[in-house]
Amino acid sequence: MAISTIRRQENISAILSREGEQGRESGRDGRANGASEGTAVERPDEREPSRFPLITNVRLPLIIDAVDLGFTAEEQAFRLEVRDWLDRNLPSEWRHRGVGGFREEEETDLQRQWQRRLHEAGWLKLAWPKQAGGREATPVMQAIYQEETEKAGAPIILGRLGVSLLAPTLLVHGSQWQKDTYVEKILSGDLNFCQGFSEPDAGSDLAGLRARAERRDGHWVLNGQKTWSSGAHYADKSFLLARSDAEAEPHKGISFFLVDMHQPGVEVRRIRQMTGGGEFCEIFLSNAVVEDRDVVGEPGAGWKIAMTVFGFERGGLAQAARFERVVAELAVLARDRGAGADVTVRQKVAQAQIEAHVFRLNGLRNLTKAQHGDAPGPEASLTKLYWSEMDKRIQEMAVGVQGPYGALAPGSPFAVEDGRWQYGWMWAQAETIYAGSSEIQRNIIAERVLGLPRGR
Ligand SMILES: Cc1cc2nc3c(=O)[nH]c(=O)nc-3n(C[C@H](O)[C@H](O)[C@H](O)COP(=O)(O)OP(=O)(O)OC[C@H]3O[C@@H](n4cnc5c(N)ncnc54)[C@H](O)[C@@H]3O)c2cc1C
Repeated sequence: MAISTIRRQENISAILSREGEQGRESGRDGRANGASEGTAVERPDEREPSRFPLITNVRLPLIIDAVDLGFTAEEQAFRLEVRDWLDRNLPSEWRHRGVGGFREEEETDLQRQWQRRLHEAGWLKLAWPKQAGGREATPVMQAIYQEETEKAGAPIILGRLGVSLLAPTLLVHGSQWQKDTYVEKILSGDLNFCQGFSEPDAGSDLAGLRARAERRDGHWVLNGQKTWSSGAHYADKSFLLARSDAEAEPHKGISFFLVDMHQPGVEVRRIRQMTGGGEFCEIFLSNAVVEDRDVVGEPGAGWKIAMTVFGFERGGLAQAARFERVVAELAVLARDRGAGADVTVRQKVAQAQIEAHVFRLNGLRNLTKAQHGDAPGPEASLTKLYWSEMDKRIQEMAVGVQGPYGALAPGSPFAVEDGRWQYGWMWAQAETIYAGSSEIQRNIIAERVLGLPRGR
C-alpha cells in the first residue's frame, strides 16, 4: 500500500451524462468517475436503459489533493479472491440493491444461511489471529472484503451484533470458559446475541443506566428495563449492562452480563416502527438470573468492557461503496422520473456524488491510520456524523424527485420501485440516533478533535 499525494481530474459527468449509453460506458470503469482502483461501482444504468436521459454531459475539472491508496499486488489478488468467492457463493436472488433492498423481518432465514456460509468459508474470522483460526488480515484486506461484499449486494448476517461486537470483545476480556462456550456458536449462528445497553432514561448518557444486579443465593439477580435492543425477539442471549454497585461512581458500579433470554425473568416486547417493522425491542428483567460464569471481566468492570464493544462499532470503506452505489441509483431514479433536466436536481445529485467521494477519501485516510497500527480516535465521530447526515440528505432527495409518488408507502401498488426509497428514507432517520446521535458526535468533535472548550 503506497500513500501519495495526487492531482486528479475528476469527471462527475459519469453520473450526469446526456446519453444513457454514455453513462453506461463511463460507469463500467470505476476510474472514469475518479474512483481509485477497486472502487468500480456497478451502475444501475448498466442494467436498464434510461427513458429520461439527463441533458448535458458536464465535465467539471476538479483538482484535488488526496490520500491515494495504491493497493499492492497481494491486496489486488485478495480482492479477486473475495470477488470470485462471492460470484460462486452469493446467489443473485440474495443480492439487494443499495437502498431499501434489505427488509430485516422478511429475510431472517436468508441472513441466517448467509452467516453460516460465510462462517464455513472462514470469512468471519478474517482479522482474527492465526492461532484462533483466523487469517490475520490487515485493515486494508478487511476493508477490501467489506467493500466487495457491499458492492455485491450481500445480505447482512443475522447474528451481526454477536459476530462484530461481542465475539471480539470476548477474545479480549472473556474467561476461557466464555471463549470456549460462546465464540464458535456466535460465529456459526447457533447462538444469537442482542445488545442490552440502552434504557428509557439512559441512551446518550449510558452511565446513567438503572437496571440493577444483586447477589442472591450465589447468583446475580437482575431487574430493570432495556430498550431499542435490536433483534432481541430472536436472540438467545443478551450482552447487557446493569448496575451491580449502587454506591460506586456511575462509571464504576456497572457489570457486563451475558443473560439467557429464554428464562422466565425476561420478557421481550417489540417496538413498532414507522417502516411497519419491529426489529427493535424492549426487554423487561424481573428477577432474571445470571450465573457468575456469565459475568464478563470483573464485577464493576462493565464500563471498560462496554468501551471495547464501542471500539468495534466502526464504519469504513464498505459504507463508501454503498453510498457510491446509492448515488448512482439516485441519478437513474431522477432521470427516470423526468427530473433529470431540473437544474436544482442536477446540482443535488452532483453534490451527493461529491459527498460520497469525500467520504471515501476520509475512509482511506482512516484506513491508512489503521494500517499503521493507530487505533481509531475521536475522529471516528467525524465518520459517523458524516455518513448518517449525508444519507438523510440523499434519501430525502430520492423521495423528493418522485413528486407526489414520494408520499406513497412501500407496498402501495403505485409506489415507485416498490417504495424502496421511502423505506430507505424512514431507515435513515434512525441513523443519526443509533451508535451515538449527531449531537453527541458534534460534542466529541468539538471537544476532542478541535479542542474547543466544554459547553457544560
Ligand atoms: C435503530 C436503532 C437501533 C438501536 N439498537 C440498539 C441496541 O441494539 N442496543 C442498545 O442498547 N441500544 C440500541 N439503540 C439505542 C441507541 O443507542 C440510543 O437511541 C442512542 O444512544 C440515543 O439515546 P436515546 O434514544 O436515549 O436519546 P437521548 O440520549 O435521550 O437523546 C435525546 C436527544 O437529546 C440529544 N442529546 C442527548 N444528550 C446530549 C448532549 N449531552 N448534548 C447535546 N445533545 C444531547 C440527543 O442527540 C438526541 O437528539 C438503538 C437505537 C436505534 C435508533
